[in-house]
Amino acid sequence: MFIDIKTNTELNDVAKLFYFSDCPNILLSVDGESFAVNINGKLTTHTYADDFYNVIPLAHRVQRLSKIAVYDALCAYTGRKMPWGALTGVRPTKLFYECLRDGNSPQDAILLMQKVYRISAERAAVLEKIVRSQHGKIHFSDDYYNLYVHVPYCTTRCCYCSFVSLPIAKCKEQSEQYVKLLCDEIKQSMNFLSSRGKKLLSVYIGGGTPTALAEKELDALLSAINVNGIEYTCEAGRPDTVTKEKCEIMKSHGVTRVCVNPQTLSNETLVKIGRSHTVKQFYGAYECAASCGFDINCDLIAGLEDEQADDFIKSYNGIIDLSPHNITVHSLSKKNGSAIRYTDGENAGTAAMLNYVLANMNKYNPYYLYRQKRQACNLENIGLSLPNKECINNITTMEETVSVVACGAGAISKLVGDNKIVRHANVRDVGLYISEYNDRLKAKHECFSNVLDKSV
Ligand code: SF4
Repeated sequence: MFIDIKTNTELNDVAKLFYFSDCPNILLSVDGESFAVNINGKLTTHTYADDFYNVIPLAHRVQRLSKIAVYDALCAYTGRKMPWGALTGVRPTKLFYECLRDGNSPQDAILLMQKVYRISAERAAVLEKIVRSQHGKIHFSDDYYNLYVHVPYCTTRCCYCSFVSLPIAKCKEQSEQYVKLLCDEIKQSMNFLSSRGKKLLSVYIGGGTPTALAEKELDALLSAINVNGIEYTCEAGRPDTVTKEKCEIMKSHGVTRVCVNPQTLSNETLVKIGRSHTVKQFYGAYECAASCGFDINCDLIAGLEDEQADDFIKSYNGIIDLSPHNITVHSLSKKNGSAIRYTDGENAGTAAMLNYVLANMNKYNPYYLYRQKRQACNLENIGLSLPNKECINNITTMEETVSVVACGAGAISKLVGDNKIVRHANVRDVGLYISEYNDRLKAKHECFSNVLDKSV
């Protein structure tokens, strides 16, 4: 019996790799190890009996092979291949780890990723390097958790933003109220975890732009967290929010790592994407953070409007010249909730941009990677690091090996254990976060209690 793949989200996601909109009619029929795919009346049949497909766990076999069959049929139908082959998920490294089980060598795993999931040789080799970088830093442990704190304010809204983020200038009163409750949520959550014997592995304050807060609020927020001696990141993503005073506040509260994000080193593009700072301000903020001795991460975006490969390469090389401890390169994604979500097409130069990064990592190693839906040219986001400067929070959060306790509007907690992950999402609306604070905090801790107290 044939099914319409539109009824299966994961199969439909494979079709979306090839078609942004207007997918053809695709039907699939499964008979044992034989998969028949009908695309607009053109029928192809695929069988996957070779031993190397055994790397797919039995419980996932039919679904994953169905995706591969639809992918193979679409490659034949369109004459195109994708950098990540039939993969549509967020975390390809997890599949690489799966390939490494049963005694396979890293070289075997590289070949398996290509043969089984059809990913390109370049991407398979990157996964191998990432797994090597993560060695000894991935912390498979139920004893630890990461703390994530969300500050939902920025100066302006970037055109690609899908986060909870409001303009700080219009929200002064609200932000003061928000920070008070956020401090309470942080303290209560940390106490809750510590009373269950859990230890804090790392802290990440994101958003939004935490440094968009006034000094007094930033100081109060960091006082509530009150930790020292562990990896502690505070995003300072908008260079126009970074001041010497705020850097000193962060330093005095134990922050070890900040993100100062140019996204591009083109003033023209910065205006087009809705950011309220200049390239010069980025360099000033970078210098300010560097003079306080923080580890620094810089984000760049590949595939921004009207940028050619050469524009991106100029930005990338400019950042490499600064030698920040980490560089994160994002391929532009037209996410739901962003201003660009309904715009047509994609920047076709993005593939050349990311290929340049992979071929020119200089003194950096790739150390984590993830993918998103509707990402330009079906590419990826990749984090690079100087040796031994890898961000543990990024690794353990992305690989889902350590629980994340998340505070603030829209923040999502993930409790990892017993081979399953339980999620709890805080309400996204900042007004509701404030007005329904007590009830929602109670519900969150009930959820935590259901997981942690049962597993003791
Ligand atoms: S800086 Fe980040 S959070 Fe703020 S508007 Fe831009 S993308 Fe959104």
